[in-house]
Amino acid sequence: MNITFSSFREISEAIKTKKVSAVEVTKHFLDRIQLLDTKLNSFITLNENAIQQAQNIDDQIKAGDVLGPLAGIPFGIKDMLCTKNLRTTAGSKILENFIPPYDSTVVKKLKNSGAVILGKLNQDEFAMGSSNETSFFGPVKNPWNPEYVPGGSSGGSAAAQAARLVAGTIGTDTGGSIRQPASFCGVVGVKPTYGRVSRYGIIAYASSLDQAGPMTSNVEDAALALEMICGHDPMDGTSSQKVIPRWSADLKADVKGLRIGILEEALKSGLDSDVEKTVQNSIEAFKKMGAEIIPISLSLIEYSIPVYYLIAASEASSNLARYDGVRFGFRAEMQETATSLDDFYSITRGQGFGSESKRRIMIGTFCLSSGYHEEYYVKACKVRRLIKNQYDEAYKKCDIILSPVAATPAFKLGDRISNPLAMYLNDLYTTSANLAGLPSISIPFGLSKNRLPIGIQLTAQAFEEQKLLNAGFALEKASIIGKEKPYVI
Ligand code: GLN
Repeated sequence: MNITFSSFREISEAIKTKKVSAVEVTKHFLDRIQLLDTKLNSFITLNENAIQQAQNIDDQIKAGDVLGPLAGIPFGIKDMLCTKNLRTTAGSKILENFIPPYDSTVVKKLKNSGAVILGKLNQDEFAMGSSNETSFFGPVKNPWNPEYVPGGSSGGSAAAQAARLVAGTIGTDTGGSIRQPASFCGVVGVKPTYGRVSRYGIIAYASSLDQAGPMTSNVEDAALALEMICGHDPMDGTSSQKVIPRWSADLKADVKGLRIGILEEALKSGLDSDVEKTVQNSIEAFKKMGAEIIPISLSLIEYSIPVYYLIAASEASSNLARYDGVRFGFRAEMQETATSLDDFYSITRGQGFGSESKRRIMIGTFCLSSGYHEEYYVKACKVRRLIKNQYDEAYKKCDIILSPVAATPAFKLGDRISNPLAMYLNDLYTTSANLAGLPSISIPFGLSKNRLPIGIQLTAQAFEEQKLLNAGFALEKASIIGKEKPYVI
């Protein structure tokens, strides 16, 4: 059995029928990490208990216990999600030595379904970034070409998944951080409907936008992992009470008659030519499979960047206020220099946060300050509602909206990091799904001339994950990436 390229179902079948042990599977991926991650820097921390977790699965099999659907499947977890007794840094110096005393609900659910946690994956600091270059632990390299970024902020998850250092990963998406790196690295990434996945124990960036979701090698794996991590959680007041369907069991690639709305604004906006071609090819593929193609317009999409960055920074400035050097996390050595409590806070925060986090804290604090909050924050919230209304109108005409994930394939390391505006503009097509709370997926579909993956984004109405996954499943089958693989594999 070729463990590296097996799906969740294949691995768990093999483990349950004792063709391979969970320990062997875990060791296989740990060996790959050892061998290849020096080239990628995708892991921040490895889980010393991974083999033990796998051993427990093998013991349960021996004892004849009924096992969860992810029994023995090794996962990497973005370092935004708290893991009990396993360091969780959010990619920041300020949490460099933070060891959570509890598991986030997502991790708890993964463990309950039998998954083995291999370790914690690199990311932009506090998930702020689109290239994984703001991490305190250094940038991650794109497994297709080490001179290029893997995307961000879940760059470690995307790179580890693309290089098959893990069987599956979890990322978080506040404005595109699952879908954009998935597109840049050629993996599947799902941002669920807001409220599907509990945010309890996920380090908060912008609470009204944050959602965790799977990043995997194929749609079926993504559907199964999503099923396992969704569900109501009394620990998160925004988590939905809706029942969780068995998406993976009901996957169907039949898109006959499905109405695919094509986002006109994206096609008119000067996309990179490889991205444009990939979008056109995906439309052709849907047509061939019998879907109905309908042009749709979201004229307010151009405001999604300013609205997103105002709201995200405002919420971040409030969420990051807790890192003060008093209760947990990094505390600067300052006994001699601090002359007041304020001084104490600012020296610790000055040393503990990187420059992108500081920029967001300053923008957010400004937007929320008295005198400006009506003008910026409240106004952004109003436009957010208008964007949501436009989506509602669009979904009267179509079932799924198709667009690029980003205007370009992966860019070179260092190319945009000193130009925040250029970096923010990268999020033009991803942020609106978060603003409207909609489920959205990136499907690897094409390759650029210089052999970098390009994903297609599909977005559905709230709680229509089945429709979304089915459309993604169909598109995946028509993918023109073929047998091409990242160079590290
Ligand atoms: N690039 C966006 C930002 O920097 C999105 C980040 C995310 O989704 N976590 O805010």
